[in-house]
Amino acid sequence: MKCEHKTANIWNPEMECIDREELKKIQSERLKKTVKRVYENVPLYRARMDEKGVKPEDIRGVDDLKYLPFTDKPDLREGFPYGLFAVPKHDIIRIQGSSGTTGMPIVTGYTKNDIGVWTEMAARSVTMAGGTADDIVQICYGYGLFTGGLGLHQGATEVGAMVIPMSSGNTQRQINMMQAMGSTILCCTPSYAMLIGETIRDMGIDPGKLKLKAGIFGAEPWSENMRARIEELLGIDALDIYGLTEMAGPGVSCECLYKNGMHVNEDHVIPEIINPETLEVLPYGESGELVLSTITKEGTPLLRYRTHDLCRLNVEKCECGRTNVRMDRIKGRSDDMLIIRGVNVFPSQIETVLMEIPNASPHFMIVVDRVGPTDSMQLQVEVNDEIFADTVGQMQTYKKMIAEKVKSTLGLSADIKLVPPKSIPRFEGKARRVLDNRKL
Ligand code: ADP
Ligand code: ZN
Repeated sequence: MKCEHKTANIWNPEMECIDREELKKIQSERLKKTVKRVYENVPLYRARMDEKGVKPEDIRGVDDLKYLPFTDKPDLREGFPYGLFAVPKHDIIRIQGSSGTTGMPIVTGYTKNDIGVWTEMAARSVTMAGGTADDIVQICYGYGLFTGGLGLHQGATEVGAMVIPMSSGNTQRQINMMQAMGSTILCCTPSYAMLIGETIRDMGIDPGKLKLKAGIFGAEPWSENMRARIEELLGIDALDIYGLTEMAGPGVSCECLYKNGMHVNEDHVIPEIINPETLEVLPYGESGELVLSTITKEGTPLLRYRTHDLCRLNVEKCECGRTNVRMDRIKGRSDDMLIIRGVNVFPSQIETVLMEIPNASPHFMIVVDRVGPTDSMQLQVEVNDEIFADTVGQMQTYKKMIAEKVKSTLGLSADIKLVPPKSIPRFEGKARRVLDNRKL
């Protein structure tokens, strides 16, 4: 897909195109303040830092970040609801929460200033997608405790765009609204974008007749191949956005129209990559677990928060002019990773494989079981009518082709089951693609 609006505005050039030495100074000042704030106000940090023998004054700048203790989801769960708040409740104006992709409820609190920072990060993201006050932004992320809906809502409002706060669900209605209002930017999960795209096709609507130009899709891992498919179905530039409740929500990082990694808002959040086994910090360019520190958050600041998301950081200046570091697409969550017969498997790898196979859809389900001492993996792949109407022999050949491709990519054999069109469940929010029946 061509990007005709690559020269799109930059929301806050002063910060997004800042000289990196200058950035480091700002980060250092902000980090020091945050460390002092949490040490003084949050018992968990005081205890952890005391345990490590680290005092706030030992942290003189970003280079000392590595001396600080890590935090993780269980800390938030144990601190539920108010344990990690660093300001009096009087100063909190909002909470958001996560049902937990991993099933653990957590909440974070926002001061007025925190909402402002989050709004700024989301406004930068909308601008990265070419969004301006002339745009009509349809938001089909869920509203509520989940940060997706409100996060982009605030950002698009800040930019001055016309916001359609649809929330998720009721695909037909989403499409009717999109046509009637002439929506130009779509915000939702990539799996929902796919469903909207397929429904538009099934309704016989010509995507060229829609006004959509870009999509801001995130909240779950997806692949380059999936991007191509969505762009084709909707006739748009499909961009990746990353965020998590713990850091505020969507907008921690977002792709510009060059689509080459998500720019991290480093004046608010410092990213590090660690080896998840040894916890050692890795240099830019190496893959590992993303660790994030908030440096402007007041309500629930988090230092060295282990996201368990696996990715890489790229510090090269982007063609768009922004200097802040870019995160590669998230490969998966370390806790999403399946270990099947000792082999690490990410659902997103399967998606990539399937999208390279003609007539296969990106809709699949991985069913893992254990028969005796051995793991078995069944991959249910939805195919189109053409394949499904084929003879048994042709279906066998097709199955074999998928099996070989999976084997050569993952190094693992899977039992492939072709299922009829529309039989794999569709998701309006985050997709669930794994059924693990093993009792481990
Ligand atoms: P929940 O845990 O309820 O899903 P969150 O919305 O806070 O709540 O989920 C954040 C997680 O979603 C991230 O840690 C990451 O695993 C995933 N995520 C968010 N954006 C992306 C993205 N663009 N690509 C891949 N994964 C993402
Ligand atoms: Zn860029």
